Amino acid sequence: MRKKIIAGNWKMNKTLNEGLKFSDDIKFELKDIKPKAKVILGIPFTHLEKINTNSEGIYEVSAQDCSSKESGAFTGEVSSSMIASTGAKFVILGHSERRAYFYENNSQLAQKVNLCLQNQLQVIYCCGETLSERNENIYFDQIKNQISEALFHLSLQQISSIVIAYEPVWAIGTGQTASAEQAQEMHAYIRSLFLEKYGQSIAQNLSILYGGSCKPSNAKEIFLKEDVDGGLIGGASLNTNDFLDIIRAIE
Ligand code: PEP
Repeated sequence: MRKKIIAGNWKMNKTLNEGLKFSDDIKFELKDIKPKAKVILGIPFTHLEKINTNSEGIYEVSAQDCSSKESGAFTGEVSSSMIASTGAKFVILGHSERRAYFYENNSQLAQKVNLCLQNQLQVIYCCGETLSERNENIYFDQIKNQISEALFHLSLQQISSIVIAYEPVWAIGTGQTASAEQAQEMHAYIRSLFLEKYGQSIAQNLSILYGGSCKPSNAKEIFLKEDVDGGLIGGASLNTNDFLDIIRAIE
């Protein structure tokens, strides 16, 4: 059976001390809940080492990006080997905010993916269409391009380290969630792309998360859909009670 995952994405929020307090609070509750999903926190680079140590293995930590370069004179960049050296096991790549504000494209993302895999980091690869792409009815093509151009050069063995997060851009941080049916339709399409390229076993074992204004009130309905294997949670992952309620929504 494929893995269920609930991953938080704090974006550029929380100081280290605030993050450690959050970690203490959820650790305590997670011991009780015994979640049916792997729990991951996508946190700022500066917090990775300390919060990973603090997690005591009760949840995993993830970076939110990495450099497309291995090392060298790239001031301000953080490499995938540096991320791996903190104990983090995951990196979120291709988030729509990185694509929109930092002009990341699929070929750059392919380089980032390669470097993460070389450093034994699993990738949570984000894809999603804008509202105009949905309205113009080109949203399936857009998702296919984002996935095939950044991922489909990978081998069978490498592709099993990838988790997909489908995040319609129009639903991120807007309060407007995709309906459970819209999420299922796209998740089934994404799985079919992997089936065609990599075969049944990879497609069936691929975890595909939904992201976009997921909250305690709508999580359960979305997570019940056959091809939805959990969520990538932005705003609601900043609040302990909301995040824990979303974790509880996974069956
Ligand atoms: C995200 O940033 O990945 C996200 C899904 O944000 P939100 O849940 O706030 O829409």
